[in-house]
Amino acid sequence: MLTVLTVLTVTPVALAPRRQPWLGGRFDGSAMMSFYDESYMLRALELGRAVAGNTGDNPPVGCVIVREGTQIGQGATQPPGGFHAEAMAVREAEAAGQAVAGSDVYVTLEPCAFTGRTPPCSRLLVEKRPRRVIVGIRDPHPQVRGAGIAEMREAGIEVVEGVMADDLRRVLAGWLARFEPSRHTG
Ligand SMILES: [Zn+2]
Repeated sequence: MLTVLTVLTVTPVALAPRRQPWLGGRFDGSAMMSFYDESYMLRALELGRAVAGNTGDNPPVGCVIVREGTQIGQGATQPPGGFHAEAMAVREAEAAGQAVAGSDVYVTLEPCAFTGRTPPCSRLLVEKRPRRVIVGIRDPHPQVRGAGIAEMREAGIEVVEGVMADDLRRVLAGWLARFEPSRHTG
């Protein structure tokens, strides 16, 4: 008997776009780039959400690396002491023989900029030379707060901020609340 296995893969591209520039709006490169960026950021969001509750006192972050329209690596925050999402994604890409240089790196939270239990992810990305780093939301941690983004920009990497920020604020609500106590008092 022939068994037909149907594998349903829900890709971000299959989801309804938030903007439909072909329906009377402006059709330009920036609108399409925004849709492209949101598609990959959604994958990163899902990766981060999948590890929520398993990252100890680290934020549950997701990261996807794309080069020339193909995903070459992905990762999520490991339990305390393990790698952060960016390092996991870089390792996956390089383990498969894929260079991160020239790629687009999607990360849900700004890369950390200080040495904790692991080296700073901003330095890692600067060393790997992606073309762009697309950041969901800034990290409110006192030792980051824009420092990770600034380090990458100063190194000549294009940084895009705020992609899917509202959705990511929900996924990272626990982390954000630690640094924004006024939102949760009274
Ligand atoms: Zn990090």
